[in-house]
Amino acid sequence: HNNAVYKNEVKLSEVFVSVKTTGKFHASRIPILLETWVVMGRDAVHFFTDVEDEELKSKILPGRLINTNCSARHTRAALCCKMSLEFDMFLASKRKWFCHVDDDTYLNIPALLRLLKQYNSTGDWYLGKPSLNHPLEIKDIEYPKQKTAFWFATGAGFCVSRGLALKMMPYAGGGRLRSVCEKVRLPDDCSIGFIIYYYMKKELTVVPGFHSHLEGLWLIKPRDLENHITFSYGQSGHATNVVRVGGFSQGSDPTRFRSIHCHLYPNLPQCANIEKD
Ligand code: UDP
Ligand code: MN
Repeated sequence: HNNAVYKNEVKLSEVFVSVKTTGKFHASRIPILLETWVVMGRDAVHFFTDVEDEELKSKILPGRLINTNCSARHTRAALCCKMSLEFDMFLASKRKWFCHVDDDTYLNIPALLRLLKQYNSTGDWYLGKPSLNHPLEIKDIEYPKQKTAFWFATGAGFCVSRGLALKMMPYAGGGRLRSVCEKVRLPDDCSIGFIIYYYMKKELTVVPGFHSHLEGLWLIKPRDLENHITFSYGQSGHATNVVRVGGFSQGSDPTRFRSIHCHLYPNLPQCANIEKD
């Protein structure tokens, strides 16, 4: 990345990062985020949830915990309800970039800014990485005998430029994303991809540095962590699927997020006495 010419400087305050979460994950997933990357991304981060939580509110910037009042369920309607509000709040924020992540994601803030600098936010950009190895195929909504096939970025991490988001307003703004989700019967991330492909006639720009737990996270080379944009953690069959990085023990850092954070910021006080990879 050092040789690239960056024409479009991007400040953290120009990026709208939305973290999708839900009440039952406030205690289990959010604390590790607040201790690690959110410290660096504070100015950009907005949490979208489905309950009131005064304790969490007190730990982040004012107005950054949004209770969507969407139902606290893992259903298409509930997830689209949340994404719809994320999109509307981004539009209202006037920021240049909308970046969405799940609450089991480590977002490498400097790498994100370096990525966004390479694109003009007034242009039409949809940046992310597919989780499927083929385009999603659905029945065409206007011609049901035909099919529509398109690539979408997994909701674990993607960005949309303001230029593209403004054009998407008639389809995704003001709660209309929810109707699209119902019309195509697809979840939030797929429906965003559908709108961009079908109505905007734009393609996903694949960014290899986004990593959800749907891929093998152990494949990421520790020496290369600084160039990747998102990391996650999860189960893959019987084994845990996490980034292989030295640092804290597996017991004290099961998600590896503390170790990733120390790998990226070795001079932090909490990183003083750990084994370096
Ligand atoms: N989520 C939600 N409501 C729910 C369950 C999950 O908003 O009832 C959010 C969760 O906080 C996360 C995303 O949806 O940001 C994906 O959830 P999870 O990682 O549990 O499932 P996955 O889809 O990755 O298997
Ligand atoms: Mn997940």
